Order: sequence, then structure tokens, then C-alpha cells
Amino acid sequence: MATEYSNLIDGEMITNGEWMDVVNPANEQVIGRVPACGKDELDRAVAAARRAFKTWSKTPVEERRKVINAMADAIAANHDELFRLLTAEQGKPHAQAQGEMHGAPAIMKAQATLELEETINEDSDTRLSRTRRVPVGVVGGIVPWNFPVLMAVQKIAPALLSGCTIVLKPSPFTPLTTLRIAELWKDIAPAGTVNIITGEDSLGPMITQHPDIDKITFTGSTATGKKIMEGASADLKRITLELGGNDASIVLPDADPKKVAEQLFWSSFTNAGQICVAAKRIYIHEDIYDELSAALAEYAKGVVVGDGSEQGTGVGPIQNKKQFDRVCELIEDAKDNGYKFLVGGEVDPSGSGYYVPITILDNPPEDARIVAEEQFGPVMPLMKFSTTEEVIERANASDYGLAGAVWTGDPDKGVEIAEQLETGTVWINEFLHLSPLAPFGGHKQSGFGAEYGIEGLKEFTYSQVITVKKDAEVA
Ligand code: NAD
Repeated sequence: MATEYSNLIDGEMITNGEWMDVVNPANEQVIGRVPACGKDELDRAVAAARRAFKTWSKTPVEERRKVINAMADAIAANHDELFRLLTAEQGKPHAQAQGEMHGAPAIMKAQATLELEETINEDSDTRLSRTRRVPVGVVGGIVPWNFPVLMAVQKIAPALLSGCTIVLKPSPFTPLTTLRIAELWKDIAPAGTVNIITGEDSLGPMITQHPDIDKITFTGSTATGKKIMEGASADLKRITLELGGNDASIVLPDADPKKVAEQLFWSSFTNAGQICVAAKRIYIHEDIYDELSAALAEYAKGVVVGDGSEQGTGVGPIQNKKQFDRVCELIEDAKDNGYKFLVGGEVDPSGSGYYVPITILDNPPEDARIVAEEQFGPVMPLMKFSTTEEVIERANASDYGLAGAVWTGDPDKGVEIAEQLETGTVWINEFLHLSPLAPFGGHKQSGFGAEYGIEGLKEFTYSQVITVKKDAEVA
């Protein structure tokens, strides 16, 4: 029988007798069952978080830091068990699951070092005015299935550090590792400070609209982000939205195809392309287009698509059937329109597991669905460009604005282009590097607010200005 997992509510691991199955995307076998929670469990979790907020918000920040560090240590101490479970539910190859499970405690610890300092607005003979930060209260966290653990901890750590308490909902597709971590945290995080509850997508709007939740921090699709903003508007909840992207990578003619091909490949295909900041549109200068596209095709041939738990797998399955169908639909659309495939494009419908082959397209038009939409799969459209002005315009012609990259032998030129891109992050000669100490957030429809760094931490707080009139005659 599949292993049963419990939710963490008010310091207790609970189940409610109703279950949702969780499937391994590599073979479509049910590997676990988690509680299917609704309004009753949510109310309990929110009430616990509200009670805990009273003391947690007044707990000295050094104590709060210690708790976060101990929570991070518990993850690190169980690394081997956790990364295997993560591969089983998410699909990513073991090496990438290890990366996520090393990253999660490291990010928590880095975020725990942040300081919210008071600022002095005025210190004159007549007045002292200072700004302090106060926690917003109970936070509702909602996370997706592509990096289920990272996305959860990067919300939980700053919430706790700021003095907030949190009720977090994992994706129904990938709740197992998070619930196993919840079990490890049960006796570390004071009761009610961290609550983790699972349910179908329908639990999401209940969180967004819950009258006793003060803030929503969400990572997921732009479509859901819009619903969240709408739901949160009823009582003007604070919101942070980390949404979709259609990131452009620009390869200038001075980049060496032999040196960039492998890096460029993994900027698109890590986690089977299911990364918000994966390179989803690759613009290559016409002078090196043929050589670089050939090098990418050659490199792709050596990468194995398969079960992430098997040695040698470079690209795992798509995480769930719905996303698998969507990626297949985009590939079919490209075929119907006669676009040229350099690699892949043939999805084998027989057998189990949501496998899409590594697929590279040769110069499809800008309005092709596979270029204009976020694919979120192992698909890489290569496009030719002639001038810098033209490529900047094409890169910016998107409703998204999450990240981008420039590959060049001249980093100054890269920065010059980066400054003209309408995105929250731009990398020169690297990819996917996010620092927990630097703000990460999207422009345009890729997001609202930021995570990470002081900017991210401040999103869990209100500012409060306290002014003392020094020369007042009152008593
Ligand atoms: P999704 O929007 O379908 O689901 C995300 C979460 O929202 C899940 O927990 C889901 O149960 C919940 N949800 C669904 N409907 C809801 C509603 N109406 N109200 C509240 N919650 C609801 O996203 P997904 O398919 O799980 O993830 C893929 C998307 O996430 C991609 O677009 C990707 O780019 C984006 N993403 C963004 C970032 C970032 O940091 N910007 C990071 C990772 C993923």
C-alpha cells in the first residue's frame, strides 16, 4: 500500500480520513497518499497560526533565527532520504534532486542572516522619527510542483524571521517531501508557527480568501496569480506573486559555440525545462547560428531522457499529465505549422511515464506558439538575429519579464544589453543562478513584489513610523 503522509497543524501531525494519491511521473505508480483538506482543516491551521503569532511575533529575532537554522539542519541531516523521495514524486534526476535538497537548508540559513534594521527619518532638536518593520501576521503560502521544497522553504524562512506565522499549501502533485520535512520540524518549530496542509487546487482560493490570513505569498502560473490577486483584493491582503516567464537568452557573435553549447543546453533542459527562469527562447546571432545549433544538436544526442532515479539520466519526465499534454500540444502545433525540428519532436505514446524527448526547433517564427508561450518542458526554440537593436526588441516583446541571459566574450557589452531588457534578473555568461541575498522578482506579468534579500523579507512586514516630538509641552 502507498505510504500515508500527514499534515502539520498546530504542532501535530494530522490526517482527516480523506486522501489524495500522489503519482511518480516516471512510471505513473501511486507512491503516496496525503490528506485532502478543505475549509475545516484550513480554519484549524489558520486559528493555530493566529494564536502562535501572538508569542512568535514577540520572540526575539535571535531566537527566531535559531529555530530557522535548526529547521534547516533537520533537512540537511535527512538529505539522502529526502532527495530520493523528491525524485520519486517530482521526476527530476537524482543529481538535480540532491541540488534542491542541498539548496533548501542553505537558502534558509542565508535568509536567516538578514537584518531588518530601523531607519531614522529625522533626529532634530524638535523631533525623533524612526521607521521600524512589524510582521504582517498570518501568511498563506502556495507553491508549485517544479521545485516543491525550495519554493516552500524560501517562503517559510523569511516569514518566520520577520515574526509572521504561516500556513503553507504544497502543490497537490508534489506534497510528499514537504510533508516528510514537516514531520521533521514538528518538534522544532513552535506549535502553530508553521502549518502545512494539503488539498486539491480548490484549497488555494480558500486560502486566498480566508479572512484571517493577512498576506499571500504565491509561486505558480501567471493565470493563477491573477486569480490570487483578485481573491486577495476583498480584504486587501498583501501579496507577493512569483509567476511564469518566457526568458530570452541572447548569444552574441563573439561567443564561442563550442564553449557555450553545453551551458546553453542546461539553461533550457535542467529539470526537464520546468523552471520559471529556464531559457525558453534562444536568440543566436546569424554569424554563429549554424555552428551553435549544430553543437547543441550534437550535445543533445548524448543526454539520456528517463527515470530520474536511474543512473545516467540527464532529463527526467514531465512532472504531471496535464503539463505533459500541454507540452505535447505545443510540439504538435509546431509540426502542424511545418516548423523544422533539429532534434526530437516525436513523443512515444506507448509505455508509462510522462516522457517528452529533448526537442530543439530550428528558427521558428516569433509568433509560433512554441516561442510565444511559456513551454515549461524540454523544448528549445533557436532563433536567428542580425542586430543588437532587433534582438532586444524581440526579447522584450513578451508579457512576461522574469529573467534573461546574454552570452558574450565582452561582459561590458553584455551589461549594456542587460540594462535594456525588461526583466527582473539578467545573467551575463551564466544561468539559473539565484542568490537568497538578492531580490528575485518579475517585471510585467511575471510577478508582483520580490522574494529573497532584504526586499523579499520586507514583504512579510509593514513599515511603522514612530515620531516623538522632543520639545512638546504636554505635561
Ligand atoms: P499553478 O498556478 O497551476 O499552481 C501553483 C499552486 O497554486 C498549486 O499549489 C495549486 O494547487 C495552486 N492553485 C491552483 N489554482 C489556484 C487558485 N485558483 N487559487 C489559489 N491557488 C491555486 O502552477 P504550476 O503549474 O504548479 O507551476 C508552474 C508555473 O509556475 C509556471 O508558470 C512557472 O513559470 C511558475 N513558476 C514561477 C516561479 C517564479 O519564481 N517566478 C517559480 C516556479 C514556477
